Amino acid sequence: MKEQTADIYRDRISILNDKGKRKWIYPKKPSGKFYRLRTILSWFLLLVLFGLPWIKTDGHPFILFNILERQFIIFGKAFGPQDFYLIVIFAITAIVFLILFTIIYGRIFCGWICPQTIFLEMVFRKIEYLIDGDANKQKSLSKQQLNAAKLFKRILKYSIFFVISFVIANTFLSYIIGTDELIRIITDNPANHISGLIAITGFSTAYFLVFSLVREQVCILACPYGRLQGVLLDKNSIVISYDFERGEPRGHIKRGETNRTDGDCVDCFQCVDVCPTGIDIRNGTQLECINCTACIDACNNIMDKVGFEKNLIKYASYNQIKEKKPFRFTARIAGYTGVLIILIGLLTILLVNRKDINVNILRTPGMFFQEMPENKIANIYDVKIYNKTFDEQNIFFKSEDGTIELKILSGDGIISPMSHKDIKLMISKNKDAIKSTSDKIEIKVLSGNEEIDEISTTFMAPIKKQ
Ligand code: SF4
Ligand code: SF4
Repeated sequence: MKEQTADIYRDRISILNDKGKRKWIYPKKPSGKFYRLRTILSWFLLLVLFGLPWIKTDGHPFILFNILERQFIIFGKAFGPQDFYLIVIFAITAIVFLILFTIIYGRIFCGWICPQTIFLEMVFRKIEYLIDGDANKQKSLSKQQLNAAKLFKRILKYSIFFVISFVIANTFLSYIIGTDELIRIITDNPANHISGLIAITGFSTAYFLVFSLVREQVCILACPYGRLQGVLLDKNSIVISYDFERGEPRGHIKRGETNRTDGDCVDCFQCVDVCPTGIDIRNGTQLECINCTACIDACNNIMDKVGFEKNLIKYASYNQIKEKKPFRFTARIAGYTGVLIILIGLLTILLVNRKDINVNILRTPGMFFQEMPENKIANIYDVKIYNKTFDEQNIFFKSEDGTIELKILSGDGIISPMSHKDIKLMISKNKDAIKSTSDKIEIKVLSGNEEIDEISTTFMAPIKKQ
């Protein structure tokens, strides 16, 4: 690990050796205040992740993202494909929020909330410490010849890893198909679900490989958010930082030393040894740092032991350390905050005005007006009705104008819960009441006795003979 102190960190990432091959990271088990807090938070988040698909409101899932059947339930409210614009605005708002949050607080999300970090550091790594022991024991076990004890540990560890991966895959599946369907599939004859079984085994294997083999490379090489750090962070961003003003020049501490001329860093490498991405935070903010706080705990433990003040590694911006400047609300932060407020406002307005039943009307393409008996003209319309409620709806149409008649040509207006229906609607009007070749008409949409919408369209008619 000591090679990290040299300037090689500028030339290559921490997970590669001299030959460009992957260097396996064996992080020491962290302990301390931040690790305890992260453990508590991760148990809470895991409870939410695994528990949410089982929560129901009025017999319906509280959360469902059924992409296959285009049914979405968010906090007990049903959304359909026609609400896609809300998802787009929500996604943009979330991205702006994440950018703003990152500019101010760095990668706090990666260390505390990201599922990859939580599963790897708080679930899989903890099982590994239990079975293989701490970092040094893991290193010697990996160098050891394969014997019965090593084989037992490997089989035990990877079997548990696969079972957890299988549970994760099933949990994500339950967000898509719902827990009722998941239980039905699990309790049914597997022969009836061969393709589903292959898919779930594939996803379980992918999770297993991510958490047992790929690990920190996901954060360093694959995660787009991680790759964006270089453009998001600036010298005012609060990240995990080593207080170089206080720590340098670093130097070992001697027993009984009273007149120390070096800085507070005793060069013990504990911060490097616990790092799950294998970096030395004393080299400054690096792409690989996921802000997991393990190095803060490790250094605080050392500071305690040698009797120095804690927080040689801490949450701080570069300017706070270098120039002892307090946090500044920069123009960039102000700009993003303005955009974020506008987006949240827009999203709120759209959500408040969102209708449970959407009705769109268009004159049938290619069809002109038709002459009808009893001195009438008729137009044919395509009406698309989206029922986003959990109840069946019986839709019909009404006009306040006594000269207008409305008739559903195709079937009826009964629409199943969370579905849509296309119907053909014929509107006919008495010729004497027609004012122009393109009259604007208003139609009320009712479900049962309740008026749910008012739609307007144009009514085409021939030029009147004088
Ligand atoms: S440098 Fe510290 S905060 Fe960053 S990943 Fe390593 S241990 Fe975690
Ligand atoms: S743990 Fe603290 S004292 Fe030890 S090397 Fe890291 S920064 Fe220096």
